[in-house]
Parts: sequence; C-alpha cells; structure tokens
Amino acid sequence: MTFDYDPQNIFARILRGEIPNKTVFESEHALAFHDIHPQAPVHVLVIPRGSYVSLDHFARDATPAEQVGFFAAVAEVCRIVNVGDGFRAIANSREHGRQEVPHFHLHILGGTQLGIMLPR
Ligand code: 5GP
Repeated sequence: MTFDYDPQNIFARILRGEIPNKTVFESEHALAFHDIHPQAPVHVLVIPRGSYVSLDHFARDATPAEQVGFFAAVAEVCRIVNVGDGFRAIANSREHGRQEVPHFHLHILGGTQLGIMLPR
C-alpha cells in the first residue's frame, strides 16, 4: 500500500500556521484543536505533525517517538477537556471510512451521552 500525502490539505495548512485554529494542546509531535463544526459539546481533533494520510499509514510508518508523542497528546486532551464520564475516539480512514481531510486525525467526542456507534 502506498500513501500519497497532499501537502495542501487543510490540516497541513493549519500545521504551517496558514490557517488559524483554536488550539487545545500542542507538543513536538502533535497538535490538538477544536473542530470547526463540533458534533458534541467536546469535539477536538488530535493530529500528528508528521505527514501521514490515515490511521493505518501512521500506525505503519510513524516512528515510535511520533506514536508515543501522539498518544501522549490524546491523554493530555482528555485531561484538559475533562471527559471523565467517557468519550468516543474516531479515526475515519480513507474512502470507505468517509475521511474528508487526508491528514490522519483522531476525533475526541464527549461531554454528553453519545448515540449508538453506527446507524443500523
Ligand atoms: P473527517 O471527515 O476527515 O474525519 O473529519 C474532518 C473534520 O475536520 C470535520 O469534522 C471538519 O468539521 C473538520 N474541519 C475541516 N476543516 C477544518 C478547519 O479548517 N478547521 C477546523 N478546526 N476543523 C476543520
């Protein structure tokens, strides 16, 4: 499998500072910011700084330091936004996953009782 990364995708532009964002947390390896169209009271996107298209790309090719740094950022986001009663993490991935932005991101959704995982 080859992953072709588009450096003009919107999250790449956010990482370069070309588009503003409402930052929740940032570190050497990750950036977390509020989704522009929140679908729950808490809706934060966590992205790696590296150029990875999707979760499977990140899981396969990111360095251990990048992977540890990414999940440390997820933990920080959960602490900062206070999802103590639980949350959902979603990584829409490529075409069948209906991924819109081709830079790997994890949605952190919470702050309310969430509905069923998938419509039946
Ligand atoms: P996907 O469908 O790729 O999993 O989700 C992409 C998410 O990015 C959507 O929830 C969408 O609202 C969010 N998004 C798209 N453009 C922007 C933007 O410019 N800024 C922010 N903060 N979120 C964005």
